[in-house]
Amino acid sequence: MLAECEWIPIGITGEWKGTTMEMPPVKGCQVTDCCYNMDEQCHALAIQVGDNPAHPICDTFAGQVASQCGDRAATGNVGACKVSVCEYNENLECIADSIMVGYQQGEPDCLTFEPK
Ligand code: SF4
Ligand code: SF4
Repeated sequence: MLAECEWIPIGITGEWKGTTMEMPPVKGCQVTDCCYNMDEQCHALAIQVGDNPAHPICDTFAGQVASQCGDRAATGNVGACKVSVCEYNENLECIADSIMVGYQQGEPDCLTFEPK
C-alpha cells in the first residue's frame, strides 16, 4: 500500500508534511552461495529480513536455485525487516544507513543487527 501524504497549507505556498523512508543498501554480503550474490554484493532489488521476528535471517537467500538471480546492474536494498527487537528497526522497516549480511552459526544473517 502506498504511504499517505498530507498537504498542509503554510503561508501562501504550502509545504509537504511527512517523511519518506529510503531503503538502506546492503553494503556487502559474504553469503557467496546465494544466487543473488556476485563478488560479495547482493543484487536482489529488495531483500526481506527476519521471517522469525527474533532472528535477523535474510529471507531472500535463495541458495543455488539458478546460476544467476536478481539484476546484476543493481545493488540490493533492505525492503522490509520484521526484527522488531533490533535497535535499527522502526515500524518493521530498517533505518540503518546500510547493512552487512553474512553467515552466523550457519544462517545468512544481517550482521548489523543490534539488540534494543
Ligand atoms: S543479502 Fe540475502 S539475498 Fe542478498 S546475496 Fe546475501 S543472502 Fe542472498
Ligand atoms: S539492521 Fe536491524 S532492522 Fe536493519 S535489517 Fe538488520 S536486523 Fe533488520
